[in-house]
Amino acid sequence: MNNYDVIVVGAGLSGLIAAAAATAAGAKVMLAAKGAGTLTIGSGTIDLLGYDNAGRPVAAPAAALAALPADHPYGKLGLPAVQAAADFFLALCAAAGYPYCGTLAANRWLPTAAGTLKPACLVPATMDLAGTEDAAHVVVLAFAGLRDYRPEMVIEGLSRRPGFRGKHFSTAVVDAGFGPGRDATALDLARWLDSDAGRRECAEQLKKRLPPGCLVLLPPVLGTRPDYQAWRDLEAATGCRLVELAGIPPAVTGFRLRALFLAHLRRQGVAIHEQAPVTGAVVANGRCLAVVTGQPDRRREYRAGAFVIATGGFLGGGFESAPGAACESIFGLPLDVPADQLAWSEPRLLAARPQPFARFGLETDQDLRPIGADGRAALANVHFAGPNLAGYDYSCEKSGNGVALVSGYHAGTAAGEGRA
Ligand SMILES: Cc1cc2nc3c(=O)[nH]c(=O)nc-3n(C[C@H](O)[C@H](O)[C@H](O)COP(=O)(O)OP(=O)(O)OC[C@H]3O[C@@H](n4cnc5c(N)ncnc54)[C@H](O)[C@@H]3O)c2cc1C
Repeated sequence: MNNYDVIVVGAGLSGLIAAAAATAAGAKVMLAAKGAGTLTIGSGTIDLLGYDNAGRPVAAPAAALAALPADHPYGKLGLPAVQAAADFFLALCAAAGYPYCGTLAANRWLPTAAGTLKPACLVPATMDLAGTEDAAHVVVLAFAGLRDYRPEMVIEGLSRRPGFRGKHFSTAVVDAGFGPGRDATALDLARWLDSDAGRRECAEQLKKRLPPGCLVLLPPVLGTRPDYQAWRDLEAATGCRLVELAGIPPAVTGFRLRALFLAHLRRQGVAIHEQAPVTGAVVANGRCLAVVTGQPDRRREYRAGAFVIATGGFLGGGFESAPGAACESIFGLPLDVPADQLAWSEPRLLAARPQPFARFGLETDQDLRPIGADGRAALANVHFAGPNLAGYDYSCEKSGNGVALVSGYHAGTAAGEGRA
């Protein structure tokens, strides 16, 4: 039996930030997770709010938050809480030597590997286009054998987008030497560029193939470590600006952010239990006493004063559903869903904004504790975060990592301060 001040369940962005916030509040923290979460398949950018409910692009997220309904997680927590979470995140990344760019005042439009532009608020410096406006020549870089990536598609799409129209586009290919017949992933290439030899070889090839002063768009492959070393070395060697494109999984930029958080949490003394599915909880008098891992033959209880459940909703494994019903997986808390399953989704899957099922989640109080039928906290010391919360469709709004950051920070702080 172990005793902690706070136990966080889930190691996606919500859980990682919750654990960091709880330690910052002075708590002794344990983190338990069965897997890595969606951070490693998304882009690692913090998309706070890209589109409003009518589907219009949002230029200034801070201003647009005021128009969100009160039951939206941002509406519930308010702008000061959103700003506090962003400040905490930016300070943590900067202190780790991997500063992010951006403020809540303006969205940035990032070029993607599909040749589109996507809105994001806080982004790694390697994805930031700021200062490249005057580049007349854009080289879209390819890597020999890289799967699921077509530079022609990037050029075809971007050459029609604002900021890129009228520029001259070309391609160049770098060969990492993996040999014929071997497919490479972005992660393989990032590991190659982690090494001094890989960076030297890549720089030699780039120097022969890049026109001076061009803007280079490349898949997210600039090293797995959160330190910008590969980016700085290659920019210094070529004299060109290098910008990573968003959007080819596995997302190396997400890997970097996860590595940064795990290193930070280890330094803070957080006990990290990976591959540890939480299968249940011990609850008495409206309080959680412990979470349970393992099956009956290897059952373990972990006790704490407060808990953050950041298990990712339906996609992360935090919810279970049956025809006409759904519940949260650890405590069995019911979700308010229509009994008629056909009402869960709009037949026009991509056209409808937002999708009903995407907004399903737990109703909570201001401290993100689930509320029962009487409107009061059903579990006084349990706080939820991320897609476990009701009231938003992150895919439609482009708010996934934004809500994860803000709710994870708020839940971790509330748990760490023992607000119960
Ligand atoms: C393909 C894809 C791309 C995306 N791209 C972006 C993007 O570019 N920008 C953006 O802002 N958002 C993006 N999102 C959305 C964003 O990733 C998520 O909304 C957000 O990161 C959710 O974080 P989370 O930590 O709450 O949940 P998750 O990342 O789902 O993590 C849940 C965690 O809980 C653990 N878990 C679940 N059940 C249990 C259990 N019983 N016991 C122990 N552990 C458990 C899981 O193993 C995991 O560690 C993307 C999502 C997807 C699916």
